[in-house]
Amino acid sequence: MRIVVLAGGIGGARFLRGLKAAAPDADITVIGNTGDDIHLFGLKVCPDLDTVMYTLGGGINEEQGWGRTDETFQVKDELKAYGVGPDWFGLGDRDFATHIVRTQMLGAGYPLSAVTEALCERWQPGVRLLPMTDDRVETHVAVDLDGERRAVHFQEYWVRLRASVDALAVVPVGAEQSKPAPGVLEALAEADVVLFPPSNPVVSIGTILAVPGIREAIAEAGVPVVGLSPIVGGAPVRGMADKMLSAIGVETAAAAVAEHYGSGLLDGWLVDSADSGAVAEVEAAGIRCRAVPLMMTDLDATAAMAREALALAEEVRA
Ligand code: GDP
Ligand code: CA
Repeated sequence: MRIVVLAGGIGGARFLRGLKAAAPDADITVIGNTGDDIHLFGLKVCPDLDTVMYTLGGGINEEQGWGRTDETFQVKDELKAYGVGPDWFGLGDRDFATHIVRTQMLGAGYPLSAVTEALCERWQPGVRLLPMTDDRVETHVAVDLDGERRAVHFQEYWVRLRASVDALAVVPVGAEQSKPAPGVLEALAEADVVLFPPSNPVVSIGTILAVPGIREAIAEAGVPVVGLSPIVGGAPVRGMADKMLSAIGVETAAAAVAEHYGSGLLDGWLVDSADSGAVAEVEAAGIRCRAVPLMMTDLDATAAMAREALALAEEVRA
């Protein structure tokens, strides 16, 4: 079975680990969000691609959910001693090596998709990891800072400002001019099922869908598209999805996220058992819905979620 998964960082990566356990023989292609990418110290950093790669490759800091295990921060301290910033973004020494290799290859003319493939040679994530695009797309968030409206990079909003102010708008800058990376449309055309893990619906999956051609390719694939709600009991399990949803005028509720994707895109939607009251509303919107446990507490629980998603896909296919 060929499964295509649209993924952000932590939520996407953890779900993928469960999916691999639930479907060990499946051929899995991941279309990763690159809207979070940022240039720091002259280096290209791709937080979501790296989180997927490290998580599936066994190099992730488990407690944190991002960055490398057994990390040290000597380079960061040295940069700080020179007064070179920004100091709000945590880059560890081991992690730096990834960004150096990536930047060197990009500088030599390789597209991000080829660079990602090369990095995965080392990590062997057990999935085919594709960036959504080789073009530069950067998610910016409009905020009101001291009475002045400003657009900041998503990382600045999330990491430096800690999402402490409201997001007034979210813009994937460059998305309109971007093209899907090589392999993305082909993977969707050959897919048997498409899954949306519990990833951020605005700044992860929303950004991937903003690349012209991807949304259309999913719809045209004519295969079941099933998503898992990142919103449980009216709140994100972690992160700032509520702030992002408010910015685009969507209520922070499992049913509202399904309706935001819409029945034109989504065939099935899993909500957490705590949200069983939302099932009827989602089904009324023309999307098949089930309430099951959706907390990725450990690998078994996450694999069970993946099995439920695949079962719902078969149900809508029938
Ligand atoms: P990011 O790039 O690291 O923000 O990761 P993602 O885009 O993949 O999304 C994180 C989303 O996953 C957030 O909206 C969380 O609410 C959601 N999430 C994290 N852990 C869980 C979980 O155990 N269960 C569910 N249902 N959602 C989760
Ligand atoms: Ca992210």
